[in-house]
Amino acid sequence: MLPFLRSGLTQLTAYTAHTETLDQQALVLDHLDTNESPWDLPTTVKQTLAQVYQTEVAANRYPDGSHTALKREIAEYVNESALLPDGTVTDHHLSVGNGSDELIRSLLIATCLGHEGSILVADPTFSMYGILARTLGISVTTVGRSPQTFEIDLSAAQTALDQTTAPPIRLVFVVHPNSPTGNALTDAELKWLRSLPQNILIVIDEAYFEFSQTSVVKELLGHSNWVILRTFSKAFRLAAHRVGYAIAHPEVIAVLEKVRLPYNLPTFSQLAAHTALRHRQDLLASLSDLLQQRRQVIETLSQYPCLQVFPSDANFVFVQFDPMENISNEVMLQKIGTDLKQQGTLIRLISGGLRITIGSPAENERMLGRLYDSLLRSGLIS
Ligand SMILES: *Cc1c(COP(=O)(O)O)cnc(C)c1O
Repeated sequence: MLPFLRSGLTQLTAYTAHTETLDQQALVLDHLDTNESPWDLPTTVKQTLAQVYQTEVAANRYPDGSHTALKREIAEYVNESALLPDGTVTDHHLSVGNGSDELIRSLLIATCLGHEGSILVADPTFSMYGILARTLGISVTTVGRSPQTFEIDLSAAQTALDQTTAPPIRLVFVVHPNSPTGNALTDAELKWLRSLPQNILIVIDEAYFEFSQTSVVKELLGHSNWVILRTFSKAFRLAAHRVGYAIAHPEVIAVLEKVRLPYNLPTFSQLAAHTALRHRQDLLASLSDLLQQRRQVIETLSQYPCLQVFPSDANFVFVQFDPMENISNEVMLQKIGTDLKQQGTLIRLISGGLRITIGSPAENERMLGRLYDSLLRSGLIS
């Protein structure tokens, strides 16, 4: 241990999203493990972006550190997609981050740093909340979910809020719909969130909004302690560019602006987000095909009695072994993961199950064939 480091950092390990190196990525692999869009930007859109870069960007100048133009376009999209009148959500309700990951960290810094607060999450959920909290020395209280529906154990959550002190819970993270389980917030969960007091900030991560088309944005303006997070990394096909945004009360936004780095978003990423927004009708038109693919994947996987396939409001499906089948879970999951990887499909082993991103029709077909082979060879189907 280096003697100048904070003691809490020794137990932490660096986050690795992809286990393969760039060299291995050159092999043709189907990436059904990170919930990205299977589609790159259309060539014409990329050409537009390249053209703007060539003719209008001064590479020697710092980026626009205020993101004002981008925020105005995001506001327009947010209003439009929520059927809210123009000008309801404005640039004052928005902060733009280097991915929503940056916004998650900013929210932690703004509320909990210096042992002033801790966070609450319901597992299984997006791992980044806990990971980023721990790097900042912020403690994480975890409650469970129903094993059948993955609804948050609300009584455990309420007890955690009531009983956690020194420091108290200041930040609650929920995902709508949740990853890795694909379920949107229920009426009961929403009712509970509405009941929480003003001294707790509620973060509702809507990374998968474009797939679910369910959002709390209409309600957000009535709650000064709610924040919605969105991202360009999924439906907008811009994972390479790292752009996310927060929607919240202007006072919360002002704080996020205070704690972020001055030039957090490179010029090229800002341009990419502008361009994607301007082409949103085209980019988002592909979503109905993707949802159709999701139905087919769920239907096919549901035929196997050894599997329990959960409904999904997002661009992935979560699958576990049927508990009645008495399958040695971790060993078998590893085996299936390895089988699929060897044949060229990456999926995510997580929370005692498989999270499979919906890819292109060809990728999905290959995945289904490879999974069938693996189940057959493992004796799980005949
Ligand atoms: C993918 C994902 C994000 C996106 O993170 P970025 O940093 O914007 O790429 C955020 N939240 C959840 C729950 C996700 O699954």
